[in-house]
Parts: sequence; structure tokens; C-alpha cells
Amino acid sequence: MQRTFIMIKPDAVKNGHVGNILAHIQKEGFKTRGLKLIQLSLSDAKQFYKVHSERPFYNDLCSFMASGPIVAAVLERDNAVLHWREVIGATDPKEAKDGTIRKLYAESKEANAVHGSDSDENAEFEISFFFKGYELV
Ligand code: UDP
Ligand code: MG
Repeated sequence: MQRTFIMIKPDAVKNGHVGNILAHIQKEGFKTRGLKLIQLSLSDAKQFYKVHSERPFYNDLCSFMASGPIVAAVLERDNAVLHWREVIGATDPKEAKDGTIRKLYAESKEANAVHGSDSDENAEFEISFFFKGYELV
């Protein structure tokens, strides 16, 4: 079993897609080990995305991620990191395959509905960034 960290981003929360996205999580056989609705400050977002601090989209991305509530979750199943990346699809919804979460619910390459960790190592860092031990079951 492996864990991954996911977020439902401000666009998808605002557009009322939380229930549908949680249904995808269940249908794909993930167990939810942690789940919460939170509001990031700009400095929280900058800290979380610091690996992207040299990228041209960094400032806009951080402002967007602090623009409204998000849902953060820890999901578990076999091959969780890669499986979730397949379920969400490409970063840009225009390039995402039919049936993927980003194809179904994203607004744009930035406001792309969901986050997913890209490696086991980053998943563990991202989980500890958002969740204390007692918030995980
Ligand atoms: N992003 C953006 N413009 C880009 C690339 C990425 O606004 O050209 C945003 C988008 O919200 C993406 C996030 O930055 O989800 C992190 O980028 P990454 O390349 O890690 O994409 P992901 O792993 O989320 O598919
Ligand atoms: Mg990424």
C-alpha cells in the first residue's frame, strides 16, 4: 500500500465539484486516511509550491491557490501516486484524456481542479506539510 497527497483546488471547490471528485476517489478504490477543508494564506501557498519558485507561473499559481477554500486529502491504495496521476490526467485540461478529473472539471492549465503528488518522496513531504499525526487514520 502507498499513500499520496491530493488537493481539490479553489476552482473546483467554488464550482461545486467536491462531491463528484470524492466519488471518483471512492470508485478508484482509494481509502481516505485524511480529509479537510482549508484556506491557505499566500505565504502557505508559496511555501508549499517552493519547488516551482523559479517557474514563470509561480506567483499566479500561489495567488490562485490562496484565492479560496481547498480540500486536502491523504489517499491510500496500491500504486497510489501513479494511479491518482492517471485519474486526474494531464496538467492542461485541453491535453487530458476523456474521463479524467481535469478533463471533466478543470477550467484551465492553472485552475486545473486537482493536485496530486508526483513521487513517493514528495507525497510524504506534502502529507506532513498539511496533516498532523492525529489527523490521519
Ligand atoms: N501550472 C500553471 N502553468 C503551467 C504549469 C503549471 O499554472 O504552465 C500550475 C498548475 O496549477 C499545476 C501547478 O502549477 O497543477 C503545478 O505544476 P506541475 O508542473 O507540477 O503540474 P501538475 O503536477 O499539477 O500536473
Ligand atoms: Mg506537480
